[in-house]
Amino acid sequence: MSYDLDNIFAQILDGRIPSAPVDENDTTLSFADIQPQAPQHHLVIPRGAYTDLSDFADKASDKELADWVRALARVAKKTGVADDGYRVIVNVGRNGGQEVPHLHGHVVGGAPLGAMLTAKG
Ligand code: AMP
Repeated sequence: MSYDLDNIFAQILDGRIPSAPVDENDTTLSFADIQPQAPQHHLVIPRGAYTDLSDFADKASDKELADWVRALARVAKKTGVADDGYRVIVNVGRNGGQEVPHLHGHVVGGAPLGAMLTAKG
């Protein structure tokens, strides 16, 4: 899949859509999900143009990879969910339910999250 330069997160990254970051550095940006599915629900995205986790794993530098993983854990801490536990979700592609074609990790918590999966094949 080629990268869509006009996807929502590309527009957040270049300022076409305003955001209120909870965390950011030179390679990642993190902000609240607009439709939270838990008391705390934030998204952690790389600044680079990666469509999904597979694309990121193939093309990102070691620094970008490490920074994104560290940002996920840092956002969990900053949003107060780290101590009681949380879930990181990365949807990939059609079967994974990915809606926005720019890699993002969901960091969700703040309450017991229940079963990991409900969909049955
Ligand atoms: P996914 O289904 O994994 O692609 O998740 C996309 C997520 O992006 C959903 O949870 C949406 O609520 C969220 N989202 C879409 N637009 C925005 C936005 N402008 N700001 C924050 N979150 C958004």
